[in-house]
This record gives sequence, structure tokens and C-alpha cells, in this order.
Amino acid sequence: MVVVMKGDAAPEEIDAVVAVVSQAGGSAFVSRGVTRTIVGLVGDIALFQTLNLGALPGVQDVIRISQPFKLVSRESHPVPSTVLVGGVPIGPETATLIAGPCAVETPEQTLAAARMAQAAGAALLRGGAYKPRTSPYAFQGLGEAGLRILADVRAEVGLPVVTEVVEAADVDLVASYADMLQVGTRNMQNFSLLQAVGSCDKPVLLKRGLNATIEEWLMAAEYVAQRGNLSIVLCERGIRTFETATRNTLDISAVPILHDLSHLPVIVDPSHAAGRRDLVVPLARAALAIGADGVIVDVHPHPENALCDGPQALVDPDLDALAEAMRTLAPLAGKRVTAASAAPR
Ligand code: PEP
Ligand code: MN
Repeated sequence: MVVVMKGDAAPEEIDAVVAVVSQAGGSAFVSRGVTRTIVGLVGDIALFQTLNLGALPGVQDVIRISQPFKLVSRESHPVPSTVLVGGVPIGPETATLIAGPCAVETPEQTLAAARMAQAAGAALLRGGAYKPRTSPYAFQGLGEAGLRILADVRAEVGLPVVTEVVEAADVDLVASYADMLQVGTRNMQNFSLLQAVGSCDKPVLLKRGLNATIEEWLMAAEYVAQRGNLSIVLCERGIRTFETATRNTLDISAVPILHDLSHLPVIVDPSHAAGRRDLVVPLARAALAIGADGVIVDVHPHPENALCDGPQALVDPDLDALAEAMRTLAPLAGKRVTAASAAPR
């Protein structure tokens, strides 16, 4: 069961709902989104129904949710959410391009990739400073030095930064540099990490686990929401199948299914799905046509020298095709392309 607060509900009104539920022996979890606060209730639902919560000041609705995921469900929040990342919207009205290097390698490489991203119309810069690699011998990322490079490049080009956090203990540090925290595919069910990003005030990009069903993925998002953070964007990045022609199989049907089940925005990562440059723009087109709220892609000024995922990184001619796809397909899906911030900060 969830209590949906009015958009202008006062903090004391939210506290009063929590107090009534606690007095009845239940637990209440307050989740704040951009436009609305939702209080999730755990405990004796029959008892909650006798409390007349709908009559408390500031309450808009009390909804019994049939899905196992509550706070992220579309039932609890029938209007699709918009998540703001450093002021940049990701949501139902927009198609947002996020681009940048897979890994931050050097200041020059990151700046060059950011300029390529910006020229293609990206509104956000991606780049990993902490890299969860399959091999312990592969480049593991620059750590905090990489975060500093991202912050410097943000100051230079003006694009807010999305970067991955791999450990709960690093969340505060990464959040002190980043505009959005990415939880990668290998950590989708790292529950202590999910709770840690759920307790911080930065939006979260939650990638789909390699072997996760849509329901497991939404339950992972629920861990984040239950800790109070409803600014979550889901990212379909391909799943493990028997097919070996691509690195993973992009599950394009996840986009409309998620839009039906959840109010959270959904973006697609065709780079990590395909693992091959030649498929990235075609898959991005498919994602935009089916109504994805954005696309996140790898770009690199010299993919042949990249320390991570060079074969899937886009270079300039591909970026022109991607920009064209954004311009033509976003309006067909009823969206406008999110404009990049006008000036460096
Ligand atoms: C990434 O985006 O850099 C990444 C490692 O992606 P994934 O977690 O989807 O493999
Ligand atoms: Mn990568």
C-alpha cells in the first residue's frame, strides 16, 4: 500500500502520515521524487485500511498496489516521472542523449570525448572512473583521479556528469563529484550498494543485470526508492542469451513493458548491448522509435587505443548519424531532443 502526498504537502504532513502508520505498528518509507512524495507502507494492510489515511492533511491518494514493487510502480504514480540530472530532464517529454568514454583515461582523452559528445547533441557526459571489469588484469579505472578529471571537463564544457559507483563505501565520494550515480549491470543486485545510493541525494542510473528479469530489475529499483530516493532512471543494456554475434542481446521490448509497469524513465545503452560499433546507431534508432527516454553511448577520440571497450566506441561519422536519428525519431515518439546546457558552468 502507498500513500501519495499532494505536490504541495508540507514536511509536517508527511511526518504525520509516518507517525500514524508507526503507531499502528507498521513501517513507512518516504520516497521523494521531483514532483511528488510517496510513502510506502509495510505491515498489516487490513489494519492500515481502518486508519482513514486518505483524510489526513496533505494526502492525495491511498493506493493498494498489486505488484511486488510498490514505490516504482506505475500504479503508485500513474503519471510518468521526469528525473533531473544537474538540471537536465530525462522523462516522458524528452529524448536525452548521454555520451562519453567508457572509461576516463586521461584529461585530454576525456575532454576530446566530451567535445565529440557535445557536438552530437549530448546533454550529459558519461565516463567511468571506477570500472568493474570481468578480468582482474584489465584496466580498473583511475578512481578519484578520474572523478577529478570528470569534474574539470564538466567545468570546461558544461555537461553534467554520469559516472559509476561500484561500492557502497564509495557512494559519498563519487556523489561529491557526480551529477548522477550509475549502478552497473554487475551490481544490479548488490543490495547494500542499492541502499547506499538510495540514501544519497543524487539521481541514480540503474542498469539491468546481465541475467535479470524485468521484475528483478524493478525490485532492485525498489531498494533504491525504499531508502528515499525516487530519482531513478532504468537503463536496458542487453541481457545474456545464447547468441554470440553480439556481446549481449538488446531486449528492446523491455522499454514499453517498463513504461507500462513503472513510472520511471527508461533509457537504452546500445554500446554495451552490441559491443560492436556498426550496430550502435541502428540499435539506438530502434530504441528511440520504441519510445525510450534517452540513449547512452560510448564515444572515444581514438578507439584503437582505448583502455576499455574501444570496439563499440562511436567516432565522428557515426555521431552525425546518431544526432540525425535523435532529430528525426524523437518527434515521431512524441518527444523533443533534450537541449544541451547553453554555456559552461
Ligand atoms: C558502463 O556503462 O561503463 C558499463 C560498465 O556498463 P554495464 O554495467 O552495462 O556493463
Ligand atoms: Mn564499457
